[in-house]
Amino acid sequence: MSSQPVRPEGSNSKPGKAQKKKQQTKSVPHRDQYQRLSFLYQAAAHMAGDPSTQALARVYAQSMKAVAKKSVLRLSPNVKRTVCKKCHRFLAENSGSVTTRIVNESTANDPRCDVLEKTCVCGVTRRFPVGQNRKYRLWADSARVS
Ligand SMILES: [Zn+2]
Repeated sequence: MSSQPVRPEGSNSKPGKAQKKKQQTKSVPHRDQYQRLSFLYQAAAHMAGDPSTQALARVYAQSMKAVAKKSVLRLSPNVKRTVCKKCHRFLAENSGSVTTRIVNESTANDPRCDVLEKTCVCGVTRRFPVGQNRKYRLWADSARVS
């Protein structure tokens, strides 16, 4: 007689299968919240195209920020740059709610000092230094984040 405990049939193969399944399906934490954020962003972008539904687009964008804040999730910088921080307007080029220009305030007119200015209808201006590093990529666009 052996001293080892008796195991039911197939018990040795079960952990292996479970590990394979775990590796195949990587679960995303807060998946439902990300889906909600994605829906709200897409709805805001869709509604911003029509001038009669601009107010609804602003409400959607505002709720997207509120959901992200409540569930402590980071919005992508690309998403954050398309929504005004003050009035929650969708800042797309074709929406007419944003004025975009490149400003260079250096005395030598150095191209490295080029700054992209996006001015919303409400008066808020956001400035992005585009001249310093032309090949600059956001952390979300880098290959490490996927
Ligand atoms: Zn604004």
